[in-house]
Amino acid sequence: MALINCDKCGVLMIWKSAHLCSDCLRLQFEEVNKVKDYLAEHPQASIMEVERKTKVSLRTIQEIALK
Ligand SMILES: [Zn+2]
Repeated sequence: MALINCDKCGVLMIWKSAHLCSDCLRLQFEEVNKVKDYLAEHPQASIMEVERKTKVSLRTIQEIALK
């Protein structure tokens, strides 16, 4: 059993497969959905525009865009 700190909020947790705790994973999932929904409606939107409208961080949007 390995203990690690969550990448985002730093909470101590048992390492399973992700480097994020369940709260941060859920939040990330919601952000991914927000960005995907916005892009589905605005396929020509720039990353800056997506950031402004969804309030999701640039880094997260770029990670989503690369997948
Ligand atoms: Zn966390």
